[in-house]
Amino acid sequence: MAVKKAAVVGATGAVGQRFLSLLHGHPQFRVTELVASERSAGKAYAEAANWVLNEPLPKEFAGMPLKLANEDLDAEVVFSAIPSGTAGPVESDLAKRGYKVFSNAKDHRMDPDVPLLIPEVNADHAALVRQQGTDGFLVTNPNCTTIVLVMALKPLHDAFGIRRCIAVSQQAVSGAGYPGVPTLDILGNVVPFIGGEEEKVETETLKLLGTLRASPGGGRGPAAIEPAAITMSATCTRVPVEEGHSITAHVELGRDAREADILHAWESFRGDPQRLKLPSAPQQPVHVHRAANRPQPRRDWGLERGMAVSVGRLRPDPILGWKFFCSGSNTVRGAAGASILNAELFLAKGLL
Ligand code: NAP
Repeated sequence: MAVKKAAVVGATGAVGQRFLSLLHGHPQFRVTELVASERSAGKAYAEAANWVLNEPLPKEFAGMPLKLANEDLDAEVVFSAIPSGTAGPVESDLAKRGYKVFSNAKDHRMDPDVPLLIPEVNADHAALVRQQGTDGFLVTNPNCTTIVLVMALKPLHDAFGIRRCIAVSQQAVSGAGYPGVPTLDILGNVVPFIGGEEEKVETETLKLLGTLRASPGGGRGPAAIEPAAITMSATCTRVPVEEGHSITAHVELGRDAREADILHAWESFRGDPQRLKLPSAPQQPVHVHRAANRPQPRRDWGLERGMAVSVGRLRPDPILGWKFFCSGSNTVRGAAGASILNAELFLAKGLL
């Protein structure tokens, strides 16, 4: 199979760095262009970026010049990790110019013709790109907290139906980008507000667990996602953790379930990435931890190269029925790795 040329837009940022680390040596995508803002354009990557990952910057990227997104890019695929607000017009323009854009930003996630995708959860929603009417297309992955939560909810929704869910997050500082939250705000502290985050968790979850309808109401209109009928309530907090978002979830299921049934639903859960053996797919998307004090973000975010989600502490909840704790990498599974898995899915389905 021919290797596709890829540009990373927002290459100097927290997620951009993850992209470079994950795409280095990738069997299907080769990074041929690096893009950032006017602050960095024209500089060599190593000069403009403050590399914060533990693994060293791959040598092939150090001397590559940074471009602007409106320049001609020698690439077919674009992995985008730029701030929301900026991302909307920049990504639309890239798709109009023929690039196949896989985005981390929120701007287009809820557009009716843009797939909001987790390949294990709703791979069939990929078909929405056919309605975009541009030479290229736009595909998004969810917010980093939503991905972790929905990976844990999907097996339960399939097996028992979920009626109501209360989710309280404990989110890592790397989720705020680089340099992120000021030290004096977060050291020894919990910040009980992240702008816009709760709305994202509540709305994106319903689109992800929703159903692709060929034409809503049986008419001749375009296909659309019918949101899942779940009542969601989210509270999002920032905690002094470097990597890994965690969520305490309380769920009301549509029918009675025993503890063993829920554990089995999680452990047996597989999706298209596993069936298609996509290069970045975890073998087991959801891992159940039996120890009472696990999962923990620092110890468990790297499971299956950061692509698996951990669940644990399943126990009865006197109000909604069941409660549990889940955790996963925000910059790999929740961002760069998620976009790369989306692109691998598109390649495997012949959509790229
Ligand atoms: P970040 O560290 O602040 O990085 C932002 C990047 O965007 C930098 O490379 C910056 O370049 C570049 N940029 C800014 N304006 C640009 C423009 N007009 N054209 C091209 N590049 C531009 O942010 P981040 O945390 O990596 O987040 C990136 C996106 O991913 C955001 O939309 C965020 O919400 C989303 N996201 C982040 C996470 C996470 O865990 N961090 C998870 C999921 C989704 P300069 O260096 O030149 O300024």
